[in-house]
Amino acid sequence: MNSSTLPYLVPYIISLIISVGIAVYAWDHRQVSGGVYFTGLVVSQSLWIAGYIFELASSSLQSKLFWDNFQWIPSTFIPLSMFLFVLHYVQNPLRNSRRLISFLVTINLGFLLLIFTNSLHHIMASESRLIKNPPFDTLDYDFHSGFPLWILNVYGLTLIGLWYLAKALRNSKHFYSQQIIILLVGFLIPIMGGFVTLAEVFTIAGQRDITPFTFALGNAVLAWGLFRFSLLDAVPIARDTIIENIRDAVIVIDQINRVIDLNPAAEVLIRQPSRLVIGQPIEVVFSRWHDLLEKYRNIQNLRDQITVGEQHLEVNISPLYDHRQRLIGRLVLIHNVTQQVKNQAEIHQRSLELETANHELQIAWDAAKSADKTKSQFLASMSHELRTPLGAILNFTEFLTMGMFGPLNERQKDALEKVLSSGRHLLALINDILDITKIEAGMMHLFVEDDVNLSQELTTVIATAEALIKDKPIQFITDIDDDLPIMMGDKRRIRQILLNLISNAAKFTDKGSITLSVKKRDNELLFMVSDTGPGIPPQDQTLVFEPFRQSKAGLKSGGGTGLGLPITRRLVEAHGGRLWLESESGDGATFFVTLPVQSAELLAMMQPEAAGL
Ligand code: ADP
Repeated sequence: MNSSTLPYLVPYIISLIISVGIAVYAWDHRQVSGGVYFTGLVVSQSLWIAGYIFELASSSLQSKLFWDNFQWIPSTFIPLSMFLFVLHYVQNPLRNSRRLISFLVTINLGFLLLIFTNSLHHIMASESRLIKNPPFDTLDYDFHSGFPLWILNVYGLTLIGLWYLAKALRNSKHFYSQQIIILLVGFLIPIMGGFVTLAEVFTIAGQRDITPFTFALGNAVLAWGLFRFSLLDAVPIARDTIIENIRDAVIVIDQINRVIDLNPAAEVLIRQPSRLVIGQPIEVVFSRWHDLLEKYRNIQNLRDQITVGEQHLEVNISPLYDHRQRLIGRLVLIHNVTQQVKNQAEIHQRSLELETANHELQIAWDAAKSADKTKSQFLASMSHELRTPLGAILNFTEFLTMGMFGPLNERQKDALEKVLSSGRHLLALINDILDITKIEAGMMHLFVEDDVNLSQELTTVIATAEALIKDKPIQFITDIDDDLPIMMGDKRRIRQILLNLISNAAKFTDKGSITLSVKKRDNELLFMVSDTGPGIPPQDQTLVFEPFRQSKAGLKSGGGTGLGLPITRRLVEAHGGRLWLESESGDGATFFVTLPVQSAELLAMMQPEAAGL
């Protein structure tokens, strides 16, 4: 290589640097659809320029020929990659045709084969020769019959690519038209250069080919486009795939109120194809929607919901600015919310129905409550009304029995005893009904005292218990702790609790024993009433605590009402205690009661308003 020729190479080297720079940038952005082909294009151009520089710089025919042959490779791949890039850029469906791509690659490889074996057949060109052409010697040869075919292939692909770009520009997709123009210019410059070279109308430094400079110039344009319009950052692909497929209607309106773009969803909405609509004033496009037009004509920014026929639409209008923040138009986004509105209406309807149902339920509930209250009041007053005359009957019968109104013979005495016993039973029944009614009506209050002497109460209970079993072969056993504390509670109710349990034991036990034990545990007293009666089978152990429920044995005995245990449990619980039973069928029953010695709850019940029953 001759050092005096070096300055002449500088422009070529600059051109190479620009191409390589763009190749690197393109490689970084190759993930964009078509980006790989764009990279292939620029890399091929760079290789071509490099080959050309080496061809110029070498002096022997042999090496010039070598580099000239080398350039054929990128020459072949430049139009091919440009073509494939365009197919991707404009989203042409052919871009996915493997058949087309392999056909094109095969043809071009075929040409390369012909070129590299040219010395054997000279189909592409004649023998080469060196022409003295300062500052460089020029490699020269004549083109043979294969060459026009190669030209046809190369320029055919290039022109089809340009045609697709021009078509894309026509249907333009407006925001991208600048991008497309830049691509067209960037591609056209080297193509024109190629024509000029072919026509041999113009030479630089005596060289046949000005393409390196046109590549550089074209690439400079592309480079500017890359930075200025983010050519590979926001290619129309993104727009196409998102905007075209989005279900919302997207309409772009320019500053003088012409529709300049719309997507398929918008075409469906306005029932007109884009080719009839693009470029038309909004007055024409939206003539059906005159009112809306008036409403939104000058609005730049808005979110609104409208109804058109049966459709409910959400309209979003937002201003569009160019890169210098100048207003260039408006973007109208229309979202069909018909289904949403329908759903909302449905929900509203359902909630109305629910409200009505709730209201009816409330009325029914109030009615039931008042009926329940009436029932309780009725039972309470009835029990009260029955209790008073019954008390009188019992009193007078007792007086009679005692002979206070004169002597009685045995039969009279016997009859009066029966009246007395039935009357007492009736009174007990009425008392139970009164109790359970008050409990259920929430009207039962304890008469709590803080100085209940348990030992004293137990003495009364034991006396009654013994009276209850005096006619039966039953032993009454007590196991009571010595130092029982003074406790809080309603002493009448505590007695009632124990007597209920003992009288049940006495009622169901025919022989054996009944044991009452009382134990003090921390702040609690544990009472146990156990008997040697028939016991309560496991399946009945829950139901005996329900009002008016009796076990089979209870039913057989015929005496009870099924109210004793429910009342007892409620009285225990009202004191803050617990009542439960343990029993094996046929092996007696033990009832357990715990009562607190004292508690804050009981203390609270001692307030003046805590009236007794
Ligand atoms: P009743 O007035 O019928 O005795 P209770 O509520 O006091 O009502 O008892 C409910 C049922 O529990 C009784 O009918 C009886 O079947 C059963 N029962 C209660 N205590 C005993 C016991 N100590 N032994 C066997 N069964 C009992």
